[in-house]
Amino acid sequence: MITLQDVSKYYGDFKVLSACNAVIAKGEVVVVCGPSGSGKSTLIKTINALEPIQEGSITIDGVKVNDRSTNLPRLRSRVGMVFQHFELFPHLTIIQNLTLAQIKVLGRKKDEAHQHGMKYLERVGLKAHAGKYPGQLSGGQQQRVAIARALAMDPICMLFDEPTSALDPEMVNEVLDVMVELAQEGMTMVCVTHEMGFARMVAHRVIFMDQGSIVEDRSKDDFFAGGGDHSARSRQFLSKIL
Ligand code: ATP
Ligand code: MG
Repeated sequence: MITLQDVSKYYGDFKVLSACNAVIAKGEVVVVCGPSGSGKSTLIKTINALEPIQEGSITIDGVKVNDRSTNLPRLRSRVGMVFQHFELFPHLTIIQNLTLAQIKVLGRKKDEAHQHGMKYLERVGLKAHAGKYPGQLSGGQQQRVAIARALAMDPICMLFDEPTSALDPEMVNEVLDVMVELAQEGMTMVCVTHEMGFARMVAHRVIFMDQGSIVEDRSKDDFFAGGGDHSARSRQFLSKIL
């Protein structure tokens, strides 16, 4: 379970996150959306302390993320993160990309890491590409490798930041299909995305952000129903993207 309690963050004098509260239960899929610059990426990065916060607290499975005594490398190793740009290591083969952190961070033996990595490559349909380099794969394939790499660490939750927005349209679905499968298997997921088809299919909740605040946090059905009690900002946003 992930909890955010009164989380605020500043860049200098600029308040980028303003008293954000959210609880994400085990197995829950939460989609985060909102206008550009509203703080979605920043929010998701605070969850595994890629960005420090100045106020409030964040916990993952009871472990305080923003506590000096927390072993951050260990915590991060259990939180899968997938970005817009795949950030694979270009000089390593696909399978080496999948085994590196397993060996270095989790201390797995080479063979074990290899087997585990291959299992996840197979899951995303890329077993045959294990010996290739990232540059030899399409964008959609690289993003699936990035997801497999995160999964090979046996994460307790997965964070996605616009994983399909840098892809050519014909590759979006192959990545979304993997994410839908993950969601259906009960993975805890926080996904910044404007893919509302994905949200409709698997999200339990939708969070809408505006100017650093969580303006809406509703069940999927309630969010898409968009009634009069919803903020004008979120209704306007929805009307533009649907
Ligand atoms: P987008 O949809 O464009 O990805 P976003 O909702 O993810 O936007 P963030 O990237 O979280 O928004 O940025 C929120 C605000 O914080 C923006 O105004 C941005 O300019 C500002 N910001 C982000 N990173 C920094 C930084 N390192 N230093 C100063 N300001 C920053
Ligand atoms: Mg962003």
